[in-house]
Amino acid sequence: MKKLVSVIVPCYNEEDSIGFLYKELDSVSKNLKTRLEIIFINDGSTDKTLFRIKELTKKDKKIKYISFSRNFGKEAAILAGLEAASGDYITVMDADLQDKPSLLIEMVKILEEGEYDCVAARSISRHGYSFLRKNLTKLYYKIINKISKTEIVDGARDFRLMTRQMVNAILKLREYNRYSKGIFSWVGFNTKWITYESSERVAGKSKWSFWKLFKYSLESIIGFSTLPLSIASLVGVIFCIISFIMIIVIIIKTLILGDPVAGWPSLVCIIFLVSGIQLFCLGIIGQYLAKMYLEIKNRPIYIIKETNIREYEKENKEI
Ligand code: UDP
Ligand code: MG
Repeated sequence: MKKLVSVIVPCYNEEDSIGFLYKELDSVSKNLKTRLEIIFINDGSTDKTLFRIKELTKKDKKIKYISFSRNFGKEAAILAGLEAASGDYITVMDADLQDKPSLLIEMVKILEEGEYDCVAARSISRHGYSFLRKNLTKLYYKIINKISKTEIVDGARDFRLMTRQMVNAILKLREYNRYSKGIFSWVGFNTKWITYESSERVAGKSKWSFWKLFKYSLESIIGFSTLPLSIASLVGVIFCIISFIMIIVIIIKTLILGDPVAGWPSLVCIIFLVSGIQLFCLGIIGQYLAKMYLEIKNRPIYIIKETNIREYEKENKEI
């Protein structure tokens, strides 16, 4: 039997893009030597996304869909897709056609050769992003790669084709705070990078506001590095040493020169500085604690409201 490729598509308010993506995938599937299944994850869209997906499902029996009870975020959608995928090769793709479906043909060829477990796309250009966002993104990749042991490749997208073995490994990572790029890299396996020019969205707007992206990058740093915690303790040690030296200097000075009341301004400055640093370090610890709190609660990462997986499975057994 031919191999099966599962295409996971997280969708959040993508009513206009889905049709284009489906057409594109349909034409790609004709050029593939494998079979194709599409898994749409409706991540709590407030527009007609679910309706459009259901329309497609009626037309094409090779489509699975999962609809969440609310917006759980792209990471949760990717996880749901990976869990529902039954393919030998599995890929994650944006609904907006920024990831070119036609690349799948080349990706499947590379995996078929057997040397690699994963083919991942890296975009060289960042079309449609502002100057500030481009540069901040570059800076972010520099920082995270300096401080984290897991390599996060600059320009890497979530778009990649993986073998079943690699996906099974990813599914073993049950963390609540998910950062896919880090997780894909953490599980290891041989990854081949292919570079391409990402294009602009076919329709709709990017779901990432500047603030959302900033928070996401901070979360990934906390999720994949404990260096901020070490910095906090290091700063504490340095300040203890400095204050110890200062105490000795003050004692000696008092013994020699007496005790004139002076140095108020500098004292106030020092108190402010030190308490500021203390709060900063407490804040860092707090961030990790908050993440632990969320992990310990062990809540489900997503909640499914509606799906056609049962029907899909029945249908495919009969074939
Ligand atoms: N997405 C999602 N849930 C969200 C935000 C985004 O499922 O909360 C989906 C979105 O529909 C798209 C993909 O994730 O298919 C990437 O989002 P987007 O295109 O907005 O990001 P960008 O390409 O600008 O980084
Ligand atoms: Mg996009």
